[in-house]
Amino acid sequence: MSQYSEDSGYVVAVDVGGTSMKGGVVTRSGEVVATDRRPTGAEGGPENVVAAIRSFVGDLAARGSSLLGRAPAAVGIAVPGLVDDATATALYAANLGWRDVPATGLVPLDVPVLLGHDVRTGGLAESVLGAGRELTDFLFLPIGTGIAGAMIIKGGPYGGTSGWAGEIGHIPVFPEGERCACGQTGCLETYASAAAVARRYSARAASPATAERVAALTAAGDPVAVKVWDDAVEALSLALATYTLLLDPSAIVLGGGLAEAGPLLSDPLAARLGERLTFRSAPPLRKAALGVSAGMLGAALLGWRAAGVPDARASWALDVPKTSAVP
Ligand SMILES: [Zn+2]
Repeated sequence: MSQYSEDSGYVVAVDVGGTSMKGGVVTRSGEVVATDRRPTGAEGGPENVVAAIRSFVGDLAARGSSLLGRAPAAVGIAVPGLVDDATATALYAANLGWRDVPATGLVPLDVPVLLGHDVRTGGLAESVLGAGRELTDFLFLPIGTGIAGAMIIKGGPYGGTSGWAGEIGHIPVFPEGERCACGQTGCLETYASAAAVARRYSARAASPATAERVAALTAAGDPVAVKVWDDAVEALSLALATYTLLLDPSAIVLGGGLAEAGPLLSDPLAARLGERLTFRSAPPLRKAALGVSAGMLGAALLGWRAAGVPDARASWALDVPKTSAVP
């Protein structure tokens, strides 16, 4: 006999990253009854990733069946790339070497499936369950290896005409600055991603360091680290001032590895943003609430949407984030 409600059903949710994927079995009421993590296997090529996802979805469905006594109602999958909602196809994912991969190829079951862009799917979760819960317009900005934003507009993530909306990491903030991997010059990501902070410090100090280490050195007053950190804050303040002036968000939700620095990042950034915006107030900065589980929880919301329950959010318990840790 299951301890979970018999009529709730569940979805299988998977958040596919460049190197690993996080999966969950999530009930109608938002309980995460199982989680797991696996390598994406991208080094084995695009077909290998497809096979890894298929097998992961199958295994999570088997876990769900044994816990809840039935097959999943649907599957939701967040992928790091462009998605076409109309055809449920992953159009392009540079990390995975994908072009035009249909959602049905990722699922070894005959159930509805929805795909989502990874950052927008995380933003969806933050907007429903996390730091943006009562907000209709905000920017979710995870700062990790790269920087991309989920623009939550009128209550939902906005993808733009071609799915490229939210690429704030490639806004040129220092046009005479350093070259970005994307081919442009002076992109936000080149100065303010966790990878950039680590790379720029390591180059100047001639000593390798992670972004976390650079944060600790900054707090301790190391002059090289302080300068690199200050450049990151300056770059972020420029990009966020632009975003604020264009879209008037009610908050900016910072996530990803760099946000773990807490006030060391948010205090100077809030001050700089406030100084920059002369004729209007700056939106408050908030820390993302769902951490590394955001993408998986967002994928579960997509799964429920695929199952014909667009308002699954209404029945989700408010303490979902506390129970959703992914190993
Ligand atoms: Zn760029």
